[in-house]
Amino acid sequence: MGIMNVFGDWIEKRNERRIELCKSQGICPECQGKGFNLLGTEVYMVNSSYYHCAGCNGSGSYFDWVKTI
Ligand SMILES: [Zn+2]
Repeated sequence: MGIMNVFGDWIEKRNERRIELCKSQGICPECQGKGFNLLGTEVYMVNSSYYHCAGCNGSGSYFDWVKTI
């Protein structure tokens, strides 16, 4: 009892810190400013193994990412 809550809080705090860092740099936290995300190599080894970042619409900007959340 309570362990999952503590773990959840930890994840959330860690995530908030990561987002703060991205905010200070003006980059999208989902793709680290790249504009696209790589899928795990174990999924498909094809050219389409990366996808347009939906968080920032491919701009890599923190401000575009903020608009989508
Ligand atoms: Zn992005």
